[in-house]
Amino acid sequence: MKEEMTCERVMDLLLERAGEILDAESEPLVREHLDACAACARWAETLKAAIRVFGTAARVEVPASLRRRVRERVMAETEKRESADRASPIPGEES
Ligand SMILES: [Zn+2]
Repeated sequence: MKEEMTCERVMDLLLERAGEILDAESEPLVREHLDACAACARWAETLKAAIRVFGTAARVEVPASLRRRVRERVMAETEKRESADRASPIPGEES
């Protein structure tokens, strides 16, 4: 059974194993989610940039406050998207 990749889970994985995942791209489920989710893709890009600046993922420290803020923002965007989906039942009718 395929494991469900939620935004929250993807962000946690990226935070905990950023260098590993982003450098090796060894997590197909994460890649798949990033391809489909703009919010998490942006988060991954942010982490990638941070890794470039600081050298290694191990040295990247994300303050709990930032982490919480990013997460809340992505959650809000996800909710917005979901309620928009409910508002317009016809697929592909985004404006
Ligand atoms: Zn996501």
